[in-house]
Amino acid sequence: MKTIILAIVLVITSSIAFSQTITESEQSTILRMREDEKLARDVYTALNEKWNQKVFANILESEAYHMSQIKILIDKYKLEDPVAKVNDQPGVFVNPEIQKMYDDFIASGSVSVLAAYKAGAEIEEIDIKELGEAIAATEVKDIKGTYKYLLDASKNHLVAFVRNIERMGVNYEPVVLSKAEFDAVIGSNQ
Ligand code: MN
Ligand code: MN
Repeated sequence: MKTIILAIVLVITSSIAFSQTITESEQSTILRMREDEKLARDVYTALNEKWNQKVFANILESEAYHMSQIKILIDKYKLEDPVAKVNDQPGVFVNPEIQKMYDDFIASGSVSVLAAYKAGAEIEEIDIKELGEAIAATEVKDIKGTYKYLLDASKNHLVAFVRNIERMGVNYEPVVLSKAEFDAVIGSNQ
């Protein structure tokens, strides 16, 4: 009898531990991040086709991996995947705000190689800002851990784009981050 009760208690506690629920805001942030990573992958893919620059080819691979990292969270928390909704068509997004960002970055990044690098740097600045806010807004371990990993990658990507811009003799001024936040990223990576 004792063993049976113990077994029942174990089953109940483990099912509580594994069916963790997350808030609506945590859910919508995961969906946003899934499309943010797709935005980066799709913009870099298009700009790589246009300009054939190694930095885009390298970074787009990493964005595809980030998309798969967020997909793990989507599956775990049983959310509806926005990327599946559009059959992962390049340049197509469920969130109209992200769709507009895609269209604008493709337009601006198609002007010149320098403008393309600047589009990349701005995308990474946006990711750094949004991921920082998302990390502060959740205490769910695996979600926080995934965002932290993506944040570190975005910092490296920003450094890479800025390096390419400066190699052209142009100084890059942050568009989204404050000067102090930007300097902290660049400084810690040099
Ligand atoms: Mn990323
Ligand atoms: Mn990135």
